[in-house]
Amino acid sequence: MDLAQRIRFEIDQRRDDLIALTQDLIRIPTLNPPGRHYREICDYLAERLAHSGFGIELIRAHDAPGDCDAYPRWNLVARRAGSAPGDCVHFNSHHDVVEVGHGWTRDPFGGEIEGDRIYGRGACDMKGGLAASVIAAEAFIAACPDYRGAIEISATADEESGGYGGVAYLAAQGYFSPDRVQHVIIPEPLHKDQICLGHRGVWWAEIETQGRIAHGSMPFLGDCAVRHMGAVLAEIEDTLMPLLASKHTAMPVIPPGARQSTLNINSIHGGAPEPEAGSTALPAPCVPDRCRIIIDRRFLIEEQIDEVKAEVTRLLERVKAQRPSFAYEIRDLFEVQPTMTDRDAPVVRSTAAAIAAVLGREAAYVVSPGTYDQKHIDRIGRLKNCIAYGPGELALAHQPDEWISVTDMADSAKVMALVLAELLGG
Ligand SMILES: [Zn+2]
Repeated sequence: MDLAQRIRFEIDQRRDDLIALTQDLIRIPTLNPPGRHYREICDYLAERLAHSGFGIELIRAHDAPGDCDAYPRWNLVARRAGSAPGDCVHFNSHHDVVEVGHGWTRDPFGGEIEGDRIYGRGACDMKGGLAASVIAAEAFIAACPDYRGAIEISATADEESGGYGGVAYLAAQGYFSPDRVQHVIIPEPLHKDQICLGHRGVWWAEIETQGRIAHGSMPFLGDCAVRHMGAVLAEIEDTLMPLLASKHTAMPVIPPGARQSTLNINSIHGGAPEPEAGSTALPAPCVPDRCRIIIDRRFLIEEQIDEVKAEVTRLLERVKAQRPSFAYEIRDLFEVQPTMTDRDAPVVRSTAAAIAAVLGREAAYVVSPGTYDQKHIDRIGRLKNCIAYGPGELALAHQPDEWISVTDMADSAKVMALVLAELLGG
């Protein structure tokens, strides 16, 4: 048998192990928020990977957002060096999962298997991908014990809430610096035949319109911040939305509806606070003096963030020119630059070749509409040779009855192991 055949054999031998590992990971309810059981899942993986010859580091992201004694932000980095110098291939998975939500017909933390599917919160996003990468590494080591370089596997916190207690923290500590790691694969559920090169950019901001409070029976004595916001929203509809729809990208974003600039208005609030549920009290009659919206602008690699922001400032100034008493404030909340790895990058070429070998079809290249931890590896770690590649259907992420296909996990594990063979083998 050649190395590729040995790898396939070793992964086929581990099918039950792959299932059991995925079920075990799902059964640790690493809910974020608030950040439960992070240490438990790191300990579980530490024991397993130590048994497979990895050196283990457990790293708590002290003082990261959300880190506290009740919910410490624990991360695991496991490294296994080969028998000769060479590159390091790093598989990074987040171990946190989002809330369960409504509509489940299965136990969200039961790890139930039926046919080819394992169900549970995080099955697809992304404990299935994490399990596939562990099996891929173990099978590769068995098939090619004398590899060169090093293999790393990390399980990191808080991707679902921005990654600041996870990959961002590790990147700031140098864990993704180019002298330590040369290739990164993030096994997010982008489907087993697709290579995700990067993501669009993000800008979140809060816009507040300001007025003056007065009695609701004499609104002419006040200045209604909600009416000012109405004018802002009308201007967004009339001028900004058509402008954004006209901006197209060469990035292969999926779904195709996201191949343009987009804007969501995440929330709106004006005037007195909402009454508490069950309250029978009547509201007081006041002219609202504040109204706030939070906007979520997704931008393209062809755009500059300064111009993205300037479009909104110009819009607000246009409203101001038409409304003499209009006043506003705008506050930045969050921003991420778009990123896209080159198709000629080594990890991309190796993964494309492995997909063709395992699945017998050409890899598709995609870009994610939303961001994930690649942003930190790129901006903080300064490592460009990074992709997302893993089993699962992105549409199932965060849904009720989330599931992962065992066959897809096994196929992806073969692809990941062949990437190791290409970059570290022989
Ligand atoms: Zn994810």
